[in-house]
Amino acid sequence: MDFPSRFDVIVIGGGHAGTEAALAAARMGVRTLLLTHNVETLGQMSCNPAIGGIGKSHLVKEIDALGGAMAQATDRGGIQFRVLNSRKGPAVRATRAQADRVLYKAAIRETLENQPNLWIFQQACDDLIVEGEQVRGVVTQMALKFQADNVVLTAGTFLAGLIHIGLENHAGGRAGDPPATALARRLRELPLRVGRLKTGTPPRIDGRSVDFSVMTEQPGDTPIPTMSFLGSAEQHPRQVSCWITHTNARTHEIIAANLDRSPMYSGVIEGVGPRYCPSIEDKIHRFADKDSHQVFLEPEGLTTHELYPNGISTSLPFDVQLELVRSIRGMEQAHIVRPGYAIEYDFFDPRDLKYSLETKVIGGLFFAGQINGTTGYEEAGAQGLLAGTNAALRAQGRDSWCPRRDEAYLGVLVDDLITLGTQEPYRMFTSRAEYRLVLREDNADLRLTEQGRALGLIDDQRWALFETKREQIELEHQRLKATWVQPGSTLAEAIGQRFGSALTREYNLLNLLARPEIDYAALAGLSGSGVSDPQVAEQVEIQTKYAGYIDRQRDEIERLRASEDTALPADLDYSAISGLSREIQLKLSQARPQTLGQASRIPGVTPAAVSLLMIFLKKRA
Ligand code: FAD
Repeated sequence: MDFPSRFDVIVIGGGHAGTEAALAAARMGVRTLLLTHNVETLGQMSCNPAIGGIGKSHLVKEIDALGGAMAQATDRGGIQFRVLNSRKGPAVRATRAQADRVLYKAAIRETLENQPNLWIFQQACDDLIVEGEQVRGVVTQMALKFQADNVVLTAGTFLAGLIHIGLENHAGGRAGDPPATALARRLRELPLRVGRLKTGTPPRIDGRSVDFSVMTEQPGDTPIPTMSFLGSAEQHPRQVSCWITHTNARTHEIIAANLDRSPMYSGVIEGVGPRYCPSIEDKIHRFADKDSHQVFLEPEGLTTHELYPNGISTSLPFDVQLELVRSIRGMEQAHIVRPGYAIEYDFFDPRDLKYSLETKVIGGLFFAGQINGTTGYEEAGAQGLLAGTNAALRAQGRDSWCPRRDEAYLGVLVDDLITLGTQEPYRMFTSRAEYRLVLREDNADLRLTEQGRALGLIDDQRWALFETKREQIELEHQRLKATWVQPGSTLAEAIGQRFGSALTREYNLLNLLARPEIDYAALAGLSGSGVSDPQVAEQVEIQTKYAGYIDRQRDEIERLRASEDTALPADLDYSAISGLSREIQLKLSQARPQTLGQASRIPGVTPAAVSLLMIFLKKRA
């Protein structure tokens, strides 16, 4: 049969991890197959139609900086953009976009279909071909065989997925989609640690049945932000508002009276749910003293009346869902278009993975996304990009790659997962990163695009734009440094008047910009010169204002790097290291950290134990 059957990389699953994995591998020039249940659901948002937010936007911008699709699709599908924490420091600022799910999905599909080296095929993968300790390919539902020595599995919530509404449950990958049962069974035969997690989603509401006049309107920001470094506000479709309402004592009574009909509280669900995205029944139970919770009504798109009521995810029976929804102000007549539900699924202990996201036990088998115990499109997309990149590197016979914790949130995410594992769905927060000031969303390209180019992920057009931006930042920096303002000069007077800072001696513009009360736009206006690109201006401003803190953080990173990167041999006999307690020896033997830094983050491994390891390695060398 003349049908392509041999590939360098096969990606299973066309969700957020799978699409970024397939695109990354294909961008790097290797023959890639994306095998997925349904071409119509490529890039589908299973839950809320929103991308970004605190910690998550950092990941989206890193995906973008490495040439991925998520940020650009968001710019094309985003119907409301806001910068969260805009009054706080740049380290914790985060862009969030509400997306039209049809436009978002269409943008992802168009990107996939126009990617050279990428084949898309609609079929369920039912089996993996494994020879000894090496993956060799996959077998589909209709028994087609595809061969590749590198397979990236991104099956999301589909592995042995079980959907719960009240005490009823049925098999499903998410509402309307079949589960991946045969593949889940096959994976359970492999020597990998498997667990169960759960997540949930709220009922969707018909906007025509909602009284918005009693709710608070929440418009997007002006000027409209962009998600991609290459994005522009002209790309955005029409922008719309979200609406805020609240649960009340009556809502809470309805939920409390029906907790015995909740699959979570009656013990039907075994899997652990996301702590930071709890169901409404969880919130009522855990925060019993609160008599109200916010509910954001978020439009699902421009061509639908459906609304996503963010904050009332639930798996209570349908009659209770209806009652609780209609107890909320403005939703007294609400029509539910789709019931809310919870889903339980298999995930694999990410401590069984290497930094490259390749499994430790099966060569060439990579895992990415929700199956590694994470939650969220952004966490999935970032892992997908990394796994796809490493699968392609392996196919090319090159060394694997993962950014360090001080280089990217992607580095923090992977290091946390493979070192610490997770007992509940893991989501990203800025608080998980120790070096927040250098890992900002605004500088993701400056941190990663050069590495992406070396890996083969960045095309010529993006590279040229990036180089121009980097050069402009440097030139503007030099110009500000070389431009002196004399006391008594017209400019000094203007600055004094505008900012209330009288100049008593000569300063250059860089010194002046470093002052908290002076901003770049005003300074450029007064001095009659400056850059027009807002991204360049933003970088010059942040780098100048926070220079002292950034330099201190960089020094700290440098100091720690030497020990951080010290490799630990895979066959190291920890029981031979005298001075280590038996408990720590056991922990290290089980976790098999790849570096000293990784060892230091294993709970229970003390700084004294790390010093002993360091001494042992020095003696051995
Ligand atoms: P998915 O997006 O699930 O994609 C998996 C893909 O793999 C699908 O295309 C599927 O068809 C395909 N596939 C699976 N098995 C096979 C197979 N054997 N053969 C071929 N194709 C296969 N995230 C949050 O951040 N907050 C939330 O509150 C939240 N709630 C959620 C509620 C529900 C009910 C669900 C289902 C998800 C929720 N999520 C939430 C999670 C979010 O949807 C996921 O984190 C994200 O979609 C994971 O991306 P992924 O690529 O790993 O998997």
